[in-house]
Amino acid sequence: MFEVTVEAGFSSGHYLRNYHGKCENPHGHNYRVLVTLAGAELDEAGLLLDFKLLKTLLRPVVDYLDHRMINDLSPFTELNPSAENLARYFFEETSRALLEKTGGRVHVKDCTIFETDTSFARYYE
Ligand SMILES: [Zn+2]
Repeated sequence: MFEVTVEAGFSSGHYLRNYHGKCENPHGHNYRVLVTLAGAELDEAGLLLDFKLLKTLLRPVVDYLDHRMINDLSPFTELNPSAENLARYFFEETSRALLEKTGGRVHVKDCTIFETDTSFARYYE
């Protein structure tokens, strides 16, 4: 199997509902997201997927959240914007975009969200 990973960053505010502690108050993070794809077949150029294309697919998802209060944005008006839920959100959004582009040749293996340099959450199926 082959894997490729791209990384992007965004700076956003959030707060956690149903949580008692500092993170129940609005605050910001310089988030980093890593999206890893996996597949057994390379294209004619020897690529699993062009990094540039993957970055293009990731960009609208990042732009949606960047410099916003995540709690104000669907689906996080209902869903708590934890690192775990953000990781699943990136997984689902990039999976959908990727399916349209590659017809299933390549799939998203996992998405990782760093809230800080030392704390991250990962989602995979
Ligand atoms: Zn936080």
